[in-house]
Amino acid sequence: MYRLSPQQEAILGKAREIKVKVIAPNAERVDSEGIFPKESIDALAMEGFMGLTIAPEYGGMGQGLRVACAVLDEIAQGCASTAMVYLMHLCGVAAYSSAPSKTGNYLRASAKGTHLSTLAWSEFGSRSHFWAPVSQEKRENGKVTVNAAKSFVTSAGHADGYVVTTQWSEAQNPLESTLYLVLRGDQGIRITGPWNALGLRGNMSAPMRMDNVAVGEERALTEPGKGLGPMLNVVLPVFNLGNAAISVGISETAVQATQRHITTSKFDYLGTTLADLPNERARLAQIRIETDKARAHLTCVIDAVEQPSPSTLLLVLESKAAAAETALLVTDIAMRACGGTGFTKGLGIERPFRDARAAAVMAPTTDVLHEFIGRALCGMEVLG
Ligand SMILES: Cc1cc2nc3c(=O)[nH]c(=O)nc-3n(C[C@H](O)[C@H](O)[C@H](O)COP(=O)(O)OP(=O)(O)OC[C@H]3O[C@@H](n4cnc5c(N)ncnc54)[C@H](O)[C@@H]3O)c2cc1C
Repeated sequence: MYRLSPQQEAILGKAREIKVKVIAPNAERVDSEGIFPKESIDALAMEGFMGLTIAPEYGGMGQGLRVACAVLDEIAQGCASTAMVYLMHLCGVAAYSSAPSKTGNYLRASAKGTHLSTLAWSEFGSRSHFWAPVSQEKRENGKVTVNAAKSFVTSAGHADGYVVTTQWSEAQNPLESTLYLVLRGDQGIRITGPWNALGLRGNMSAPMRMDNVAVGEERALTEPGKGLGPMLNVVLPVFNLGNAAISVGISETAVQATQRHITTSKFDYLGTTLADLPNERARLAQIRIETDKARAHLTCVIDAVEQPSPSTLLLVLESKAAAAETALLVTDIAMRACGGTGFTKGLGIERPFRDARAAAVMAPTTDVLHEFIGRALCGMEVLG
């Protein structure tokens, strides 16, 4: 459905191979123990996937959102935690790629598989409104320091590079932020709590503090106070479409598990299976349709990003909300279709059910996307 060229299909085929050999076999342990999916990320890194979207001049594969979404959909079918860690890396390198004169070394290291990136945007004081950080940089004697309480940072403590938002020292309002690159070894960064969540349990999306972290001009990824533009125009499309692809992959897992279960689970005394019940077949049909619809919508949005038009922005906003809600619906129906057996760990439906619940509350949340889209359709400023 992603309409890939033969070369792109080969890349997807490699991702599928890694999913089958490493990512899927590790997924249950990652989930049950709540551990970072190191083996899975290392396997992707070994095959150059950390450079999937990085320009060839920095050693990357130079692929766009079409291939990234196809790969994320595939990985999410094996382990949604791994897919989310990988997506946050792709978001981080999108920010690096907008400031290549400062980040060339990190782009090269990512392409070689030795640098993992992420975003540290959400703050306790601005919650899911990532575009309005409450932290503010300090400028003294030509030195810049960041002090921030970040509420959720995927790959906390595992990522090598953190793309951090903070208000510009001369900001007139919270929208005047700057993006900085903070590195794992920098003085003043620490993880302040555990990650123990309902789903995406391998993400390590833990809270972090940054106290007087020195970030020279060479670490600024945007002009002072001009972070909002790259946040919305460069990183948000990667996050929204990639997040949608993960929701589609989670839905696909639930559909396939349901299909397997209802076609093989027997009422011995009747000599029938669950699939002989019309309501069970209807449930399977409904979740197949919903998943195909979500994937088709995503590919339309990819087309719109590749061939921009006035409707592209709306479609980018739609993509994450549409797929997130689909994943909630599909995994809920799948759980009912698979009865008490689906409720247990063995069948492989309850993990996608839990993992699916993250997308709708990850910023921009479904509520906020509905508000943005509604405002745009009514001719209002989106960030009014
Ligand atoms: C698995 C996971 C991974 C994450 N990874 C990262 C990461 O790597 N980097 C990062 O920066 N952040 C990350 N986050 C944070 C995420 O993006 C959100 O900021 C966070 O989930 C918001 O949680 P909150 O409790 O602060 O929500 P709140 O902002 O308190 O929202 C509570 C409810 O209010 C609704 N709401 C809020 N504002 C509005 C509005 N204007 N209109 C209507 N309804 C509204 C929300 O939709 C939600 O239902 C992650 C979160 C999760 C769950």
